[in-house]
Amino acid sequence: MTVTLRPLIAGNWKMNGLKADGLALARGLAERMRAAGEAGFDMLVCPPFTLIAEIGSAVEGSGITLGAQDCHEEQHGAHTGDVSAAMLDDLGCRYAIVGHSERRGAHAETDAIVKNKASAAHRQGLVAIVCVGETEDERDKGATLSVVTRQLAGSLPDGASAANTVIAYEPVWAIGTGRTPRTEDVAEIHALVRDRVAAKLGLGKGPGDGDAQTRAMRILYGGSVNPSNAAELLTLEDVNGALVGGASLSGDDFWSIAERSL
Ligand code: PEP
Repeated sequence: MTVTLRPLIAGNWKMNGLKADGLALARGLAERMRAAGEAGFDMLVCPPFTLIAEIGSAVEGSGITLGAQDCHEEQHGAHTGDVSAAMLDDLGCRYAIVGHSERRGAHAETDAIVKNKASAAHRQGLVAIVCVGETEDERDKGATLSVVTRQLAGSLPDGASAANTVIAYEPVWAIGTGRTPRTEDVAEIHALVRDRVAAKLGLGKGPGDGDAQTRAMRILYGGSVNPSNAAELLTLEDVNGALVGGASLSGDDFWSIAERSL
């Protein structure tokens, strides 16, 4: 049983954007989204924490959804410099990215921490975008499938479902490098993610035994997506959208990527 999913095109602005450029980018996207009417894809922007409130106002009513790049494991407390899912919800965020490789790497976030963050997002009613992906060294050792399997097993909390969780497969070596995996590798890994998610959530894969629900979890590809490679990557069977870094900072490029996902 195949379920066709509406692509989710998510922009991770990372630590980029002051008020003026962030607002210009968001307003431009909101204008295009309004003009498109029924665009056929869902669009999400994840600005830095400092801009969330203003970008939220800029995209309000356009159909563009607001998200954050991280959240803390707890909802409040003595955690200097951190931001909780409750705070993000309060600003109008509907999504939180957790376990991005830049956080797993630079902030030593383990699978257990990522799992707690996803749980915190869920408790607040946010959709967690759980990122997984192998390093170049792991790929070279032929460990991609085992690394992704281990990350999924360790990072997905109990209660994760198609409604509250999106997986982003992002090979670390492809992020910000202009390099992408071969499409057959993306297809193989996304199919594996689909299988592992089904196993982890205890859902069957055959028609009538939970397959539709399992397949309904969106699995995004991320890593150097741009307007030239988007169509090839995003129209693969188990690819349900993209998590876009660098190219999401250009309204033209981000919009083109979204159009090519259909
Ligand atoms: C990312 O950081 O999530 C990402 C995919 O970045 P880029 O598109 O720049 O490779």
